[in-house]
Amino acid sequence: MPQFRKNPLKNEWVIFSEERSKRPKKEKVAECRFCEGMEIHTPSEIFSISSKENRHPDTSGWIIRVVPNKFPALSLENNNFLKNEIFYENLNGYGIHEVVINSNRHVKFISELKETEIKLMLDVFAERIIQIKKNKKIKYISIFLNQGGKAGATIEHSHSQIIALPLLPEIIKKENNFLKKHYRNKKTCYICDLINVELKDKIRIIHKDDLFLITPLFYSCYFFEVDFIPVRHMSNFEDINSIEKEALAKYIKKISEFFLEKFSSCMNMFIKTQPIYENNKDYYHWTLKILPRIHNFGGFELSTQMNINTSFPEKTAEVIKKYLSRS
Ligand SMILES: [Zn+2]
Ligand SMILES: [Zn+2]
Repeated sequence: MPQFRKNPLKNEWVIFSEERSKRPKKEKVAECRFCEGMEIHTPSEIFSISSKENRHPDTSGWIIRVVPNKFPALSLENNNFLKNEIFYENLNGYGIHEVVINSNRHVKFISELKETEIKLMLDVFAERIIQIKKNKKIKYISIFLNQGGKAGATIEHSHSQIIALPLLPEIIKKENNFLKKHYRNKKTCYICDLINVELKDKIRIIHKDDLFLITPLFYSCYFFEVDFIPVRHMSNFEDINSIEKEALAKYIKKISEFFLEKFSSCMNMFIKTQPIYENNKDYYHWTLKILPRIHNFGGFELSTQMNINTSFPEKTAEVIKKYLSRS
């Protein structure tokens, strides 16, 4: 049974899940259980979008499909919230782990998805957040995409994942507290302020329109990481509208094409949205990040959690902007 164990030195939880180690190392394309027609090889679907009327669950005819992770890091069955605080602190591994199968076709890279498919993927993220939030034990929802072995993927068919936690990861708590403090002191949203600074500085802008600022952050942690920041102040990702989703899909596709062409097929994408227990919409501003995965972490990074980024964001912006202007 999965378990959370707390490291008091870092005030961070670690998830232990032997289930995750049972994931197949590599599946042959002919046996891909995420392809259309292979529905019986996944756990029963939770949600899907289909063009076919009266389609039965777990049959073909879907466009995008959400299923429970067959090898979950966490599970709703671990309902018993036993806490042991004698010396060590631990919790049962309660939570949700879902897989969003991004396409019915055997597509490996997000850049191979059509813009309409990426938009549908964003629709599904918003829909699942709304549904998962009905579970009052859930405190935080992480939405991410791993593409390629170096990015943590074990299945080649393009998919995203949703992990819903009964607690707040320390880094999310820290970021949330910072944003709250900034709002308390200045009465403005930090990310809205950041947008204004970037518009003045100009040197880190990859793209800006009425809907999104696309920029590597001044203090980017990882090589060529790029943030998508909605211009409209929004705390919760699920409040994104249809036009914003279309714009986001277009640029996710373009920038992941750039990563694939210039660096590697391995990349991560993730969304940072407001922790669930917070209902003040003034200070939190959701963002989406994508980054190519080229380097592994070394001893220095592991021991200090201080990353060495080999590309200044000003250079990253210049290179990607140049690429986009040609395509
Ligand atoms: Zn497939
Ligand atoms: Zn804002």
